[in-house]
Amino acid sequence: MIDTHAHLDMLKTEEDLLESIESLDYIITIGCDIDEIYKAVEIANRYGNVFASVGFHPYDVKELDLDKIYLLKELALQNSKVVAIGETGLDYYRDITPKEKQWKFFEKQIELAKELELPVIVHSRNANEDTVEILKQHSPFENGGIIHCFGGDIEMMERCVDLGFYISFAGNITYPKANNLREVLKRTPLDRLLLETDSPFLSPQKRRGKPNKPSNIFFTLEFVANFLNIDKSELEKITDENAKKVFKKAFNRELVN
Ligand SMILES: [Zn+2]
Ligand SMILES: [Zn+2]
Repeated sequence: MIDTHAHLDMLKTEEDLLESIESLDYIITIGCDIDEIYKAVEIANRYGNVFASVGFHPYDVKELDLDKIYLLKELALQNSKVVAIGETGLDYYRDITPKEKQWKFFEKQIELAKELELPVIVHSRNANEDTVEILKQHSPFENGGIIHCFGGDIEMMERCVDLGFYISFAGNITYPKANNLREVLKRTPLDRLLLETDSPFLSPQKRRGKPNKPSNIFFTLEFVANFLNIDKSELEKITDENAKKVFKKAFNRELVN
């Protein structure tokens, strides 16, 4: 099983980290600010089954200069374990970074991902219209991308799928109130479906209230399999195959033809 989105540097204990690395086949760890991108790359270089994505989260670009994007490029070019750009995107939930600045960083990171022929990992919260608009302006996405911790409606999902994106659901899909999100899940094409933990955030219902860790992805897998009426091992196979397609720098050598 692959956890396509975790923040391993933020896990509470070393034990959580080691347990997660042992219980999953692969983990993609995400860096969101300057400190974290170096930590993510360091962890990926330390463990064979961990890969890293480097990017600047919209909340973390407030004090950042646009030319710092070159750091992402350097890390991606110098490290074979850096396999994606992000998470980047738009977040209007809290008024932390002015919208114009978010847009600029989002567009620059999209352009960098395209230049490096890597997928882009997109974060979108309370900003779905603008997110899709910016993605549309930058299409086509020949190297794909992921809308992580998907929180949009069916229309947004369909537009993102049309743009070549994978739709990744996190532990919040298991919450009792997430009926609308589950309607989106039901309609998401299986060949575009991914699962993630977003650890240490968004623990699935069965672990809610505790810090999340990648090994909790099995609760989400089981829940989604039951909901979609698919065998658990079959769903694991489907989402893992999707992950291997989108993170092609990590898994290319394992793909048949
Ligand atoms: Zn995010
Ligand atoms: Zn994240």
